[in-house]
Amino acid sequence: MREPEPLIIRPPTEAGSLLLRVTRGCNWNRCKFCGIYSHFGQPNFEVRPRDEVLADIDAARALYGDHHTTAFLGDADPLAAPPEDVLAILHHLRATFPRLQRVTCYARASTCWRTREYLATLREAGLDRVHVGLETGSDALLKFHQKGSSQRLLIQSGHATRGAGLELSYYVLLGLGGADRWEEHVRETLVVLNSVKPEFVRFRRLWIYGEEGGPSCPLWADVQAGRFVPQTPEGTVHEFRAIIAGISFPTEIEAIHPNVYVRVGGRLPESRQRMLDKLDGFLARPEAEKALVYGRASAI
Ligand code: SF4
Repeated sequence: MREPEPLIIRPPTEAGSLLLRVTRGCNWNRCKFCGIYSHFGQPNFEVRPRDEVLADIDAARALYGDHHTTAFLGDADPLAAPPEDVLAILHHLRATFPRLQRVTCYARASTCWRTREYLATLREAGLDRVHVGLETGSDALLKFHQKGSSQRLLIQSGHATRGAGLELSYYVLLGLGGADRWEEHVRETLVVLNSVKPEFVRFRRLWIYGEEGGPSCPLWADVQAGRFVPQTPEGTVHEFRAIIAGISFPTEIEAIHPNVYVRVGGRLPESRQRMLDKLDGFLARPEAEKALVYGRASAI
């Protein structure tokens, strides 16, 4: 039996979702800390033909039945496909899987901004939430890491997305300011978060991978040349704490990825003190104990 084309990555929260590949790879592909799609064999961006995606929906229905209640559209930026294609895909998906309660996708902030006049229509057609890599709110760091966005764009795009009725899930990348610009990273990230007020704030830690002659993320060369000084593990936990402490609106925090040193989660403001206590308790532990945690997480 024909199988739907598989995705490369999806958010952890979409582990049980029906996964549907609308585009292949990332249409930006330049962020210095990433390289994930190239690494997994998809260096180029492609919009899949609409009929192929519609046929995947039918194939998924034949294979799995209609029990799915959530669905996720990939790869990195499915809203970069023509809006009429995305609409047709959403309509067919909702009609074929009538039990769906939530449909989400990854999206670039710039794509949300560029397609802002269609977002409300996509919402009506059944798209509920977009997962956007905020990474940082600092203009200087966004530029250095070649993220292709700016604080102004992030704020405009975030408001447009939420204004269209879509839920917004932001990903903050701890460590992106390195050891010397972490305060700027925290301060400017809070400017964006506290302006846009996304429904979800999720945390990941910068992972710089590379080896002489082997596969490397583009940031590896900056580290080797001294242009980027990685944040310390302890500094990363302090960053994390400062952002949790500085968020001034109700939202859901999620930091369950194994590469963050201290996993916390819950709703702000109700669970803020519990999360801060957990982070403070970790920071107060003996150095040897923390070193074990840092060592284990660094290998992920
Ligand atoms: S971080 Fe996102 S936008 Fe940047 S290259 Fe990776 S997938 Fe593309």
